[in-house]
Amino acid sequence: MTTSHVDIWNDCIAVIQEEIAPQSYDTWFRPIKPVRLENNVLTIEVPSQFFFEYLEDNFVTLLKKAIRTSLGPDGRLEYSIVIDDSGPGESSRIKLPTTPSAPGGNKRNSLNNPHLHIDRPIPNPFVIPGIRKFEIDSNLNPNYTFDNFIEGDCNRLARSAGYAVANRPGVTAYNPLFIYGGVGLGKTHIMQAIGNEIKAQSPRKAVLYVSSERFINQFIEAVRNNTVNDFMNFYQMIDVLLVDDIQFLSGKTKTQDNFFHVFNHLRQSGKQIVLASDRAPQKMEGMEERLLSRFKWGLSAGLQQPDYGTRKSILMTKMYQNGIELPDEVVDYIAHNISSNIRELEGALISLLAQSSLNRKEVDLDLARGLVKSFVDKVQKEITIQAIQEVVSEHLDVEVDLMKAKTRKREIVQARQIAMFFAKDMTKHSLKSIGLHFGGRDHSTVIHALQTVNDLMATDKTFNKSVEEIRKRLALES
Ligand code: ADP
Ligand code: MG
Repeated sequence: MTTSHVDIWNDCIAVIQEEIAPQSYDTWFRPIKPVRLENNVLTIEVPSQFFFEYLEDNFVTLLKKAIRTSLGPDGRLEYSIVIDDSGPGESSRIKLPTTPSAPGGNKRNSLNNPHLHIDRPIPNPFVIPGIRKFEIDSNLNPNYTFDNFIEGDCNRLARSAGYAVANRPGVTAYNPLFIYGGVGLGKTHIMQAIGNEIKAQSPRKAVLYVSSERFINQFIEAVRNNTVNDFMNFYQMIDVLLVDDIQFLSGKTKTQDNFFHVFNHLRQSGKQIVLASDRAPQKMEGMEERLLSRFKWGLSAGLQQPDYGTRKSILMTKMYQNGIELPDEVVDYIAHNISSNIRELEGALISLLAQSSLNRKEVDLDLARGLVKSFVDKVQKEITIQAIQEVVSEHLDVEVDLMKAKTRKREIVQARQIAMFFAKDMTKHSLKSIGLHFGGRDHSTVIHALQTVNDLMATDKTFNKSVEEIRKRLALES
């Protein structure tokens, strides 16, 4: 046979071009080089691991067809990948055989490909513009890591999605990962932890953390200096872009336009985008619809206020990390009374220590009380389960006695469950004790109630609203 690998690849291209848009062709096929043809196996060289995965995920059927057309049913395709995180100046290849009969729907199989092995370095590596020595200041604070991020129900989804993204940036379905929630709940911490983890695993990746204010200012500056192209080029070179407090882009149409292009470019090239905002995409105002719809492409993960247990373990961890010991009652007191967010919790701890060293006083409950007063306008007295039951009863129009009775009527069960939920959230009672306050039910019933309420809050808007109203009423009680 005299046909060369180039001819065969040209035949493949003819098949491919028939079926895909020119832009996709330019992006995904033009950079491919045929390298050899041996025993009916065509080897093509692709610029990166990501590139290979993208082809496998999106074009495997088309590639199979192209190979079958050009090489016949026994034809096979092998990839040769130029790795972009090898040392400076060197480059090596990974050889990945793929058989046209590999199931196309089996995503990600390529990652665990048992055939994966590194070929010897080649003298004349295939270089694409994307393979670069592109050094930027990532703007990351090394103190924000996954290790020191305490997990609780309030942040589990965002944390685990963040962790997945950190381990496989650009590859998971969480692109963009959109983290939202009120102040001090850990958005910035998670974002930075993602950046730090990626840098730790792949130091050569261009990771950038930027606040949206900074992004806006840089853009304004670029317009002023006539360097918008440079600005765009810079952002389009990033591998992992972390944009914090994206809500500040509201109303900034020009900046949004440019962000839109950066976003598209990065996402199309399989780069990871992580965004944080003070509210969910569907609640954002002053944002272009096309941008909002893209925000929803990946995963939106909300952060809630931490419950008592999480607050306490955050405090304990921070104390441990700083080598501090405090009496249990003080920790309980703070965890109990400072509930709105984690930044305040940290602040309280620091002030407490500062005051104690300033006044040369042991940290005791009195000191903590004094401090908490200055933190929250109104110090919560310990709310009782009875008070919770009364508020819930009034709000949902279900008598307290019925909540304690055996009845399984739906409205009553729900009222009981909501009251149990707040009893767990707002008092120090154990599950067992809560059960006892509701007609002697056991702790597993209480656990079930907490789960049900949490689930319903996440899925049922009306329910969620009603629970939030009760929460407000309870806040007035305490
Ligand atoms: P946000 O960006 O949502 O306003 P931050 O990420 O800045 O909040 O968090 C505020 C402070 O609380 C930071 O110091 C952060 O380290 C800390 N923090 C938040 N959540 C946690 C957590 N789950 N575990 C440990 N520290 C946390
Ligand atoms: Mg923040």
